Amino acid sequence: MSAKPTRTGEFDLIAKYFAPLAKGEPGALNLKDDAAFLRPRPGHDLVVTTDAIVAGVHFFENDSPDVIARKALRVNISDLAAKGATPRAYLLTAVFPRDVDDAWVKAFAAGLKLDQKRFAITLIGGDTTSTPGPLTVNIVAIGEVPHGKMLTRAGAKPGDDVWVTGTIGDAALGLKVLNDALQLSEQHRKAVVARFHVPEPKPQLGHRLIGLAHACLDVSDGLVADLGHIAAESNVSIRIQAHDVPLSAAAKAALDKGVGLVDLVTGGDDYELAFTAPNAARPRLKALSRDTAIPLTRIGEVGKGRGVMLLDKNGNPVPYGRPGYTHF
Ligand code: ADP
Ligand code: MG
Repeated sequence: MSAKPTRTGEFDLIAKYFAPLAKGEPGALNLKDDAAFLRPRPGHDLVVTTDAIVAGVHFFENDSPDVIARKALRVNISDLAAKGATPRAYLLTAVFPRDVDDAWVKAFAAGLKLDQKRFAITLIGGDTTSTPGPLTVNIVAIGEVPHGKMLTRAGAKPGDDVWVTGTIGDAALGLKVLNDALQLSEQHRKAVVARFHVPEPKPQLGHRLIGLAHACLDVSDGLVADLGHIAAESNVSIRIQAHDVPLSAAAKAALDKGVGLVDLVTGGDDYELAFTAPNAARPRLKALSRDTAIPLTRIGEVGKGRGVMLLDKNGNPVPYGRPGYTHF
């Protein structure tokens, strides 16, 4: 075990592991220039977003490299999805501790390759640097929307329905399980840990919400907190029917074990889409859900006023304290 891990120099590392990911986007110039160029498809705007993930904050230091890579890419794709954008390209800033070796980078690149294919997105540039601190991966993702059509957090109107994709709370439960703060059956454990490690962004749905949704975002900090952002930016209030929030079988089992519903709707890392749409959109949303095989659940409504209210079956407010995760 005395052998030092193999570590190729920075430029060879880029050429060996990252340049193969840049094929397919001519503007990437094989990752051999100072910058890349990108021409949007005719009639489209570029949508740009960035998110960093940090060891010890967003993932565990010993998580496998492909899982870290996929999470980094997927949280950014989730932001594109929320804006109705189709993924196109991304830049990768890899901030690696010195003990990261070739095998690690190779597996990391393999994770990226897998998801590039899955989401039709290509690496076009980045930066690689060492750090005495925790491993950090920052991605800038770029997508395309029809000119002037990017979905925003503003635009929700009183009377709108509030919708959410998939199920809520699973990733927060995954984190609890990984921290040994919750015991679940093997099957449920696997399901929620997978949700924490590798989120499922939904760009195939997001772009079809253009023309249907009035306001949209992705749920990353907690459902209540994030709907609060729509309420604030749209100058409206939002009422959520707590018992209508879609839960997985694992989440239902967790409730039976004493986890509070409030923990699920204020936990983070869901990477589902939440949006508001007029009542008239219901039939088209139902069809869209069928087409994409992505569950859509109506969980509340938009009203006049301010803020987010969580209501129980009897219409009484459920106190929730902290609405979601914040870093500071
Ligand atoms: P510069 O010194 O001009 O800023 P760099 O030496 O940082 O350029 O990078 C050289 C090339 O390699 C650039 O095209 C850059 O986009 C690419 N690159 C560096 N690191 C990465 C990475 N982690 N992923 C993708 N491309 C990268
Ligand atoms: Mg340069």
